[in-house]
Amino acid sequence: MANYHAKVLVVGSGPAGCTAAIYSARANHHTILVEGLQPGGQLTISLEVENYPGFEQAVQGPWLMEKMMAQGKHAGVVVMEDSIVKVDLQERPFTVTGDSGAIYTGETLIVCTGASARWLGIESEERYKGFGVSACATCDGFFFVGKEVCVVGGGNAAVEEALSLTNHATRVTLIHRRNSFRAERMMQDRLFANEKIHVVWDTVVEEILGEERPPSVKGLKVKNVKTNRISIIKTDGLFVAIGHIPNTDLFKGQLSLDAEGYIITAHDSTATNIPGVFAAGDVQDPVYRQAVTAAGTGCMAAIEADRFLTLYL
Ligand code: NAP
Repeated sequence: MANYHAKVLVVGSGPAGCTAAIYSARANHHTILVEGLQPGGQLTISLEVENYPGFEQAVQGPWLMEKMMAQGKHAGVVVMEDSIVKVDLQERPFTVTGDSGAIYTGETLIVCTGASARWLGIESEERYKGFGVSACATCDGFFFVGKEVCVVGGGNAAVEEALSLTNHATRVTLIHRRNSFRAERMMQDRLFANEKIHVVWDTVVEEILGEERPPSVKGLKVKNVKTNRISIIKTDGLFVAIGHIPNTDLFKGQLSLDAEGYIITAHDSTATNIPGVFAAGDVQDPVYRQAVTAAGTGCMAAIEADRFLTLYL
């Protein structure tokens, strides 16, 4: 099976991975970027991006990621269409095995594996995933033309999903466990101004109700957390937008992780507990989680990897 060696090995191809790779290639280091399961990362399922600096008008997430990737290739980054299944950080060069069977080794490693959608964790959710339960309005909103849908969550993602679903559904019910959103004020104003959206406060989803064969969602059993009153909301679908969990399973036992599974990095640095291994983007950021901050930490990681190569190799 093929072996590839890099001075800087980057895993993950969202804004953090692309930026780390661009900077490393421009520092004249042979740089390999292993794309991962979702090339381009979370922005490829985002709707319009309005807050990435440099664009007066909103841009499409997939377009922005195509441009970052193209910039990397132009700078000399070798992009591998592969996702990692195994990691060995015991000694340098670090070894990463791809799903293809290819082995990648790196004198330095920059981990940019991002985060994935968090699910409610109730049994009925599993039953209807892909059959009316989704975590991506961009991907699945189209299936709800002329139907009624619910969204659960209270952050920017939930508000954005609810707004986007009004392009398809006749009615969107946004269910939130508290009585105020954490979404940006501007997003909330748009939400409250939209007549198709109805907000249900202080409420959690207890069960997704529907038919078994073929599986289809018909409603939700919900509980008001203040009154404990149980009620049923009729709906054709549920979009879960309750945040993300970092993609760090492969690094457990090798890199230091916090209680929520985020990679711990040194203060004002992307350095992990293993010298030569750096982490950037959402995989190490439980606080900001923005495309622009991910790109910023990707840049930091590349500069730190460059210093490491200069000092120690
Ligand atoms: P988030 O800001 O962490 O919000 C998650 C929401 O889900 C919170 O309202 C939380 O409730 C709720 N929640 C969490 N676990 C839950 C559970 N088990 N059951 C019910 N509700 C639950 O996550 P996000 O909205 O995905 O956003 C992530 C980051 O991406 C944020 O920094 C956000 O600003 C950014 N983002 C930006 C844009 C944009 O700028 N256009 C779009 C999308 C996302 P509580 O409020 O009670 O904690």
